[in-house]
Amino acid sequence: MKNDCLFCAIVDGEIPSTKVFEDELCYAFRDINPQAPAHILVVPKAHIASVAEVTEENAALAGHCLAVCAKIAVQEGLTGGYRIVSNCGDDAGQTVHHLHFHILGGERLNDHMA
Ligand code: AMP
Ligand code: ZN
Repeated sequence: MKNDCLFCAIVDGEIPSTKVFEDELCYAFRDINPQAPAHILVVPKAHIASVAEVTEENAALAGHCLAVCAKIAVQEGLTGGYRIVSNCGDDAGQTVHHLHFHILGGERLNDHMA
């Protein structure tokens, strides 16, 4: 379901974003409403709706996104640590239904996971 997907439009350059990193498989950009001094979103270029749609067939792509998260954290100088979040479904408050990993850091994050 690519039609009307905000992050597909960002990947395709139809909607502007502040690019942090890009390779053939994924795209990373700054969150428009940052929740921490560093708040970056890493998305696969191929449309996957959420973690719930990660399968054995596309797990390597999701894993690649996580490897890119680690690379970006170094690039951003997040030496003190960071948090990776992927909201999945309504109860988690997922608002954009294209798999994405939030990288949050740049300060001491709160202790609450939920
Ligand atoms: P989630 O609530 O986990 O689905 O996260 C969606 C994220 O996308 C939120 O943190 C939004 O601030 C962010 N977002 C929405 N629109 C844009 C945009 N045009 N550019 C960058 N980030 C966006
Ligand atoms: Zn999409």
